[in-house]
Amino acid sequence: MPRSQDFNRLPGAMSERPLLMIPGPIEVSPAVLRAFSRPPPGHGQPFVVKAFGDSLSRMREVWRAGEGAQPFMVAGSGTLAMDMAAVNLLDPGDEALLVDTGYFADRMRLVLEHRGVKVHTVVSPPGERPELEEVEAALDACAAKALFATHVDTSTGVLVDPAGLAALARSRGVLSVFDGVCATGAESFEMSEWGADVYFTASQKAMGLPPGLALFVAGARAMEASRTRRTPCPLYLDWNVWLPIMETHEAGSMSYFATPATNLVVAAEVALDEILSDRLDGLEGVDARIERHARTGRAMRAAWAHMGLGVVPASDAHCANTLSAVRYPAGVDASLVGRIVERGVIVAAGLHPAMADRYFRVGHMGYVTTRPDLLRRTIRAVGDALGAGGCAVDTVGAVDAAMKELGSRAVAV
Ligand code: PMP
Repeated sequence: MPRSQDFNRLPGAMSERPLLMIPGPIEVSPAVLRAFSRPPPGHGQPFVVKAFGDSLSRMREVWRAGEGAQPFMVAGSGTLAMDMAAVNLLDPGDEALLVDTGYFADRMRLVLEHRGVKVHTVVSPPGERPELEEVEAALDACAAKALFATHVDTSTGVLVDPAGLAALARSRGVLSVFDGVCATGAESFEMSEWGADVYFTASQKAMGLPPGLALFVAGARAMEASRTRRTPCPLYLDWNVWLPIMETHEAGSMSYFATPATNLVVAAEVALDEILSDRLDGLEGVDARIERHARTGRAMRAAWAHMGLGVVPASDAHCANTLSAVRYPAGVDASLVGRIVERGVIVAAGLHPAMADRYFRVGHMGYVTTRPDLLRRTIRAVGDALGAGGCAVDTVGAVDAAMKELGSRAVAV
């Protein structure tokens, strides 16, 4: 077993600690870490005001948002963004349709029910996603004002089809809201072209930041709905209280409602710039970033397949770029997670309540997608931990399979 001081020296990023390969929080880049790790700046300092405004403008690009769309960046976690979507769009007594692909749909249901919304659900077995026809039928059978779906469910690694869902919702005059917490910046999302109304995320995933920011864009129809809702909501959750703060910052000047997470704001400008300045095989910006994640996802799945391990998503088309939900092979149980951690790589246990003890999760988003060496280390830790538990696998072959899939050009530029 490696000695603890040998674990995971990540030059310029983290040192003296295990490699964090859970589906968020994630390893951040050296530049993001440098921007974040400073004495707390004041929210009126010009460079903070500029970072706030620039971050909002950059979000428009990453979200592919169109005219009339409004970006928001608020101190809080992803659940805050969920709460804000629910209370700004819906009144108590309104109906909503929830596309349930796992654990985080349950979270969304709780959030909506807390608002007094009547929730209808289209659910699929773990690893699958409801067909668009089922969603269409469910929409027609209720009076939903909004449709909610999780772009990537972090409990199963299942990816939905936001383009199809947004089109369905739009065709029936229903708002569409997508939880991009485990997806934004790593999975394709064309907010304007697809006509999606709200797309939210949190900083600790593919945005490449530490936890602490809720980031979302509300389209013109969603903003209009927030103005016409009848029931007030708590002040901190009210989009329209935050709106002038976002507008003034994007226009280059300071305004105050509640203290922003200044270190995170400064780091956000850097993280969003890293996404928009990525380059990969002729692709640029968010396209390059998404392709980098797609390739990483395929590479990791190639490694698991080489080890004879299955994944939770039922089909390749449902597999997220951002994480692997890997089934334990016969004879192996959840103690594998501890053995992987002992090898210096922190992975996560299963989360879907129906099968949490049958699989584990490996996050692969953000900075690590530019570091094949860290991906190799992760695959080796899993392979070695399986071997130590009496389930010998071809770890070297698995690493090779992954690197072949990745291609050497996936290294950071
Ligand atoms: N939605 C999804 C898809 C998530 O993965 C998470 C967090 N893992 C959340 C919502 C909730 O975000 P947070 O923990 O930042 O509140």
